[in-house]
Amino acid sequence: MNAQPTASHFVNGAYVEDDAGDVIECIYPATGEVIATLHEATPAIIEQAISSTKAAQVTWRAMTGTERGRILRRAADIMRERNHDLSVLETKDTGKPLQETLVADATSGADALEYFGGLAGAITGEHIPLGGDFVYTVREPLGLCVGIGAWNYPTQIACWKGAPALACGNAMVFKPSETTPLSALKVAEILHEAGLPAGLYNVIQGRGAVGAALIADARVDKVSLTGSVPTGRKVYAAAADGMKHVTMELGGKSPLIIFDDANLEDAVSGAILGNFYSSGQVCSNGTRVFVQSGIKEAFLSRLTERLTDVKMGDPFDETVNFGPLVSEAQMNIVLGYLDKGASEGARLVIGGKRADRDGFFIEPTVFADVTDDMTIAREEIFGPVMSVLNFETEEEVMARANATEFGLAAGVFTQDLARAHRVVTGFEAGTCYINTYNLAPVEAPFGGSKMSGVGRENSKEAINHYSQVKSVYVGMGPVEAPF
Ligand code: NDP
Repeated sequence: MNAQPTASHFVNGAYVEDDAGDVIECIYPATGEVIATLHEATPAIIEQAISSTKAAQVTWRAMTGTERGRILRRAADIMRERNHDLSVLETKDTGKPLQETLVADATSGADALEYFGGLAGAITGEHIPLGGDFVYTVREPLGLCVGIGAWNYPTQIACWKGAPALACGNAMVFKPSETTPLSALKVAEILHEAGLPAGLYNVIQGRGAVGAALIADARVDKVSLTGSVPTGRKVYAAAADGMKHVTMELGGKSPLIIFDDANLEDAVSGAILGNFYSSGQVCSNGTRVFVQSGIKEAFLSRLTERLTDVKMGDPFDETVNFGPLVSEAQMNIVLGYLDKGASEGARLVIGGKRADRDGFFIEPTVFADVTDDMTIAREEIFGPVMSVLNFETEEEVMARANATEFGLAAGVFTQDLARAHRVVTGFEAGTCYINTYNLAPVEAPFGGSKMSGVGRENSKEAINHYSQVKSVYVGMGPVEAPF
């Protein structure tokens, strides 16, 4: 296997290039160096990507689920065997430390392929008895699904969308973020090596306009987007025009509530995982950390101590646990929020500036005494910036935690189990945590409510979003008519 993809697109079972497309430079975020030059999909490539899926899907949907699943599970095995090479590529694509990519990217993608591969043969309908007559239902694939990815977890997103789509008998055209174009091509290559018939999983490159062209095509039946709320609004509206199915995995500004009785060490660990993993570029991050007044000083002092263990540096050094932001543009967005935090009166506890080194590094940053009206408490930052807010009572904190348009995730740390469940019941969020944070196993549904999204990824739930029900009424007796 070549370590790097050999062309810009993977269509109909092979790498293809069309130099006429605008150039996309893939930049290694730890140095700013260009590591690959690709081309955007031209209309000819888009046409090839869509038309090849249509023919392939007819055969694919006619196979048994077990046959389809066997190919997905084989692809999972190949991904695991090549985890090291795939992790190296993911680190180049995103700048995330190898320490992270070795355990969180291709491995998570392989989990999705294995899980949905196992489930493929169990996608069935039901039998509804009606006396003599009966109805049976059939779960049918939707047809052609378009996947559009964000740049923070390129391998994982390509698999979280591709695996359930293929398990249900669909075809997929996947467009990665222009910022991280490489890893999804490897996913396509591996799926085909595992036996996926040509044309069922095509990857094409491009900026937003290529995504928009895919969604506008009448042959597309479903769109699954991972991205920001503003992009989600546009994509959802474009899909509505053709009455297409959608899954929207969008942004968040999730609350993480720490009560006085919480285990301090676990709460600090949860806040670290929920703010600084992948340099804070995680959609479900708990970036509004509400800390009850009795534990606040202990929390801040232990957090500050723990942050001295951050090792920023060369992402390929496996002892490094903190990498750069994905791009210069994203770094500048985050720097803008650091200025806003300071100018609106938040108290800087640690960090607060660009690191003094090459690449797009920002120091892990904690602001305390943040109030609900500050920009850093309202807007998704998507960088290593934690806002600590003070609170006194459960009733007060619940109202404030839910006072946001977002509803992706929410978490609570407390040793009072009754309170933990009461708080979770009150959360207006799709993915909740008690005494832990940010785990996303493939077995559990993942997704948001309110502006954070529509539909769910992972788990058996995802099957409902990549298939539709046909209901068949069977008459067993004479047909009665009024005349
Ligand atoms: P964007 O919303 O900027 O982009 C997402 C994808 O949509 C990219 O591939 C982008 O292409 C594409 N796109 C942009 N405009 C259009 C359009 N008009 N039609 C079709 N496609 C379009 O998000 P980012 O890539 O900046 O990712 C960060 C965001 O993703 C954050 O808000 C984060 O919260 C969210 N996210 C949500 C997750 C979840 O599961 N809920 C998980 C991970 C991230 P291009 O970038 O090439 O322009």
